[in-house]
Amino acid sequence: MPIIPELRDYLDELTAIRRDIHAHPEIGFEEERTADIVAVKLAEWGVEVHRGLAKTGIVGTIRRGNSLRAIGLRADMDCLPMQEMNQFPHRSTHDGKMHACGHDGHTTMLLGAAHYLAATRNFDGTVHFIFQPGEEGFGGGRVMVEEGLFDKFPCDAVFAMHNKPGFPVGHMATRAGPMLAATDRFDIRIKARGGHAAYPHLGSDPFVIGAQIVMTLQTIPARNIDPIDSAVISIGLMRGGSAYNVIPDDLHIGGTVRSFRPEVRDLLERRMSEIVRGTAALHGAEAALDYRRGYPPTINHAAEAAFAADVAAEICGEEQVERNVAPSMGGEDFSYMLLARPGAMMWIGNGPGEGGCMLHNARYDFNDTALPVGVSFFARLAERFLEAK
Ligand SMILES: [Zn+2]
Ligand SMILES: [Zn+2]
Repeated sequence: MPIIPELRDYLDELTAIRRDIHAHPEIGFEEERTADIVAVKLAEWGVEVHRGLAKTGIVGTIRRGNSLRAIGLRADMDCLPMQEMNQFPHRSTHDGKMHACGHDGHTTMLLGAAHYLAATRNFDGTVHFIFQPGEEGFGGGRVMVEEGLFDKFPCDAVFAMHNKPGFPVGHMATRAGPMLAATDRFDIRIKARGGHAAYPHLGSDPFVIGAQIVMTLQTIPARNIDPIDSAVISIGLMRGGSAYNVIPDDLHIGGTVRSFRPEVRDLLERRMSEIVRGTAALHGAEAALDYRRGYPPTINHAAEAAFAADVAAEICGEEQVERNVAPSMGGEDFSYMLLARPGAMMWIGNGPGEGGCMLHNARYDFNDTALPVGVSFFARLAERFLEAK
């Protein structure tokens, strides 16, 4: 069995906790109930509990021996604002809220590691269990760092895990360098001159301008970015108009931009602004780009990524660990912790994306059979990092 044998005693309780959190999902910075469960369980198992960092965030701490070395293990606790379509008994009981990204599983895996490490204390040093709020767009990880996470709880390195549907249970993956992208948002507001749709020549049409902007933006990844680099511009919303026979005065376009390198990010923002303003001017109208930088790219530190892969291989077997997995254009606010401390992010297999069981899908569910793998990984990571010399 590729897991720590003692964990068998905790599995039923952990599965129950995971499903209870799944049934009671909470949006970023509102994770009061989830944080209560985490705090109560940590205290019950003899872990020192610190509450109130980034509002609903929690840090649990255990120490053993004389070593000053410390490791941080991080999980996220929040859900998504979407309606769950699953019918199983532990489906969401909160309308319009759902654990569709598996943060219920992440929180539970970290709890399991805390339980095991608090009971066995087979290490020399300090383990900080970081339960962060608001990963889904709220930047709870950034807020925790800004509120002094690593000053109050110094860590030599910090690690996190995210489940990956479509990747078999018992498999893990990581890489040195960029793992997840920078996630930026933008709004384009076009101000044209509308009127009767039968007489378009008397004004300027924000739809024609907007359509041209949407198409031209795609030339940035295709013709401005080095083909070896990665960049994505996706439109997520377009709002304008109210009648079949009226050309409106304005159009609102919004979306997301993904990149890995700072130079690429700068270039994307600059070229988008030029295209938006230039295209509108071409048609005698005006348009402005509001570009807002979100999470920085998640960049794993090479030594920590290699160390985490070694531990994963110990749990899962070398053939089940991808040490140089392809990066993803998704984003993660664990990136803020990796800017402050060395560390690495791991992906843990969630099994086939059965029945639309993909992240942010209304039929997603965290796979409980991955719990022992993740718990063993977190636990062994701490034991190896803090090995008595
Ligand atoms: Zn997510
Ligand atoms: Zn997530």
